[in-house]
Amino acid sequence: MLNHNMSLKLYKRALEKIPGGVNSPVRACKSVGADPVFIDRADGCFIFDADGNRYIDYVGSWGPLIVGHRHPAVIEAIESVLNRGTSFGAPTDLEIELAAMVIEAVPSVEMVRMVNSGTEATMSAIRLARGVTGRDTVVKFDGCYHGHADTLLVEAGSGVATLSIPGSPGVPKSFVTHTLSLPYNDVEGFKKVMERDGEKIACVIVEPVAGNMGVVPPVPGFLEALREETERHGSILIFDEVMTGFRVAYGGAQQLYGISPDITTLGKIIGGGMPVGAYGGRREIMEQVAPQGSVYQAGTLSGNPVAMAAGIATLKEIKRPGFYDNLENTTAQLVDGLTKAARQAGISVTVDRVGSMAGLFFTDRTVKNFNDAKTCDLDRFSSYYRKMLNSGIYLAPSQFEALFVSSAHTAEHIDTTVAAAEKVFREL
Ligand SMILES: *Cc1c(COP(=O)(O)O)cnc(C)c1O
Repeated sequence: MLNHNMSLKLYKRALEKIPGGVNSPVRACKSVGADPVFIDRADGCFIFDADGNRYIDYVGSWGPLIVGHRHPAVIEAIESVLNRGTSFGAPTDLEIELAAMVIEAVPSVEMVRMVNSGTEATMSAIRLARGVTGRDTVVKFDGCYHGHADTLLVEAGSGVATLSIPGSPGVPKSFVTHTLSLPYNDVEGFKKVMERDGEKIACVIVEPVAGNMGVVPPVPGFLEALREETERHGSILIFDEVMTGFRVAYGGAQQLYGISPDITTLGKIIGGGMPVGAYGGRREIMEQVAPQGSVYQAGTLSGNPVAMAAGIATLKEIKRPGFYDNLENTTAQLVDGLTKAARQAGISVTVDRVGSMAGLFFTDRTVKNFNDAKTCDLDRFSSYYRKMLNSGIYLAPSQFEALFVSSAHTAEHIDTTVAAAEKVFREL
């Protein structure tokens, strides 16, 4: 067993000062029956805890660190911008540069507004969709997580799913009466709702690859149906690509599947490990945002130069030819290795992967929606998590989360991981 004395000591202190000892719920590791390890530092694909234990990291700060921790180009960009200052609350060249890179990369985005988190991006996108259409109703899908804004905390994935919270106290009923949550990947169910309520629906928001109930790819025809039906009924289609943007392809899931949403939300990777979010879309929609238009949205630290610099440096790295092919190969090696190891140990698993994001479910069935994900063997996942941690493999402490591979992971790191998993599966 690894020694976690210092982590425990820090956790006890944190519990007195911070609700649950953490600043974001899933970090507390409650659902997998573990205490959180406190992190001291990280480098490449490794993360080191306060007791000096080293792990191969598959969380990557929950997605942003696609080039690994402390990538030299990212660190250099941050150091260099620090010589200019940390925040000006006034426009800089860096904001134009990152906006231009996003517009060039993401097919449907013609203009983009920077914010400070994914939550802020989806919240603002919803307001914009409602403002543009003059309608109130928002359609989302069970098990998709779009941040913690009131409207979207219905049947949500990620931490809400992990902690089995049905909704959240503090969200007035009247706020969510305008939110419809439908089963993911259910094309017929969705069409029926659009037929019935289409004229009231401001927008449909979706994770084009669901990554907050584990990883659940869209079935063929699902994203196509969302595009066709929203267009037919004059509703806005929002792709929440906070996780998938620059992750499953340089142009995100919309490039991979060839579907053009009206608004796209981004975050995670475009901040290179600094707090960032963004929303963008067709010019005539984005022109409705204040001060050009009248849909209000603002932010003291939005477009922060340090975050912009980290984002620009990250995008420059991942834009290199072959980057995504290499990443895909490494991730395929991991997923194949894990699947084979489980099979050899006689353990049923379903492993889903899109690009460099993957999810492992303890079940013998395919997982197409939130209900499927919820009926997998969560107790087995908990033991798997704890044993992998003890073997030096750092995974997200919930089945309802994705694992991420970065370019800092090499074939050798994957071999080490698969070897650890072989042993762990035999003990499950
Ligand atoms: C992480 C995530 C968010 C929320 O982003 P925060 O920066 O945590 O507010 C929203 N949507 C999706 C799809 C995400 O994965």
